[in-house]
Amino acid sequence: MKKTRQNSTAAEAAFLKRKRPVKKKNGKKEGKEEGIITPLIEKYWFQRYSLFSKYDEGIKMDEEGWYSVTPEEIAIRHAEKCGGDGLVIDCFSGVGGNAIQFARLCTFVVAIDIDPQKVNMAFNNAKVYGVEDYIDFIVGDFLMLAPSLKGDVVFLSPPWGGPSYKRIESFTMDLLKPKDGYSIFQAAQRITPKIIMFLPRNVNLNQVEELSWLSSPPLSIELELNYLEGNFKGITVCFGSSACSSVL
Ligand code: ADP
Repeated sequence: MKKTRQNSTAAEAAFLKRKRPVKKKNGKKEGKEEGIITPLIEKYWFQRYSLFSKYDEGIKMDEEGWYSVTPEEIAIRHAEKCGGDGLVIDCFSGVGGNAIQFARLCTFVVAIDIDPQKVNMAFNNAKVYGVEDYIDFIVGDFLMLAPSLKGDVVFLSPPWGGPSYKRIESFTMDLLKPKDGYSIFQAAQRITPKIIMFLPRNVNLNQVEELSWLSSPPLSIELELNYLEGNFKGITVCFGSSACSSVL
């Protein structure tokens, strides 16, 4: 298994140069978003330009979207790994952070989410980036839709169970939602062996390796550790050699 580390110096420098928003005496931020930014998502709001560099151009997110969207620089890395060509299926697309970057670098994207509000927000956000014509948005349950899907690369960033995953020592496959990681992976495998998964930094790596053994012969596997502004954000796992076009 190959392990690499990715740093994000340019984005980090840009982020650090940004002025922090002025706070009112009552602790609420000045500006048009007052009332939208709850205490739970405030820390993510400070990172808004790492989530979407075009944040100020009309990006929409709900509370879950704030803490589950893939930071833009990492989403770009995921898209680079798809090799540029072909149809990418983003199976838990949320507010569209990954789908947008796949649409920019690959031929076409199918973006699936079970929550219609998320799909509306993802469509809005894709429009902000001018890529809405390269994405088919589907409201549905990935596990139900999987048998009827065709694609060149499957991207899986299944729910990690919210921010509380950080408190777990070893994040095991049964903690993924809406089903355990093995079941999600097997559904994806029926579509293509080229699978990219974005998983918590504390994921149990022995179990990750076990996923590759669900195929015969076992799929090749590459890991990339994703850092942003010095923080370890997650682990990208590429299964099936040509899923990872770039040398890590
Ligand atoms: P996290 O726990 O990592 O914060 P979320 O709970 O936000 O993740 O889930 C990520 C996305 O996956 C959400 O937008 C959610 O609506 C979507 N989702 C959950 N279950 C399914 C499913 N069965 N099929 C497709 N999308 C789903």
